[in-house]
Amino acid sequence: MAAASPEPLPPSKLVHRCPVCGVLHAVRPARAEVAYGRQLACSPECEGERRRRARAPYRRFSGPIAA
Ligand SMILES: [Zn+2]
Repeated sequence: MAAASPEPLPPSKLVHRCPVCGVLHAVRPARAEVAYGRQLACSPECEGERRRRARAPYRRFSGPIAA
């Protein structure tokens, strides 16, 4: 069986796509272990932005409606 389909390698556990800027970047095995399947950010700047976005939905509490 010679499956000759030249499909690109999918992102492995050690290659993450930054959820902020979308770039593929290598991740250290130690960091990949603690990622628990999530995609890690490529840089501290993107990590900060990711956390800011992750926290944003919690601000949608139903506040007082000024009618
Ligand atoms: Zn990034």
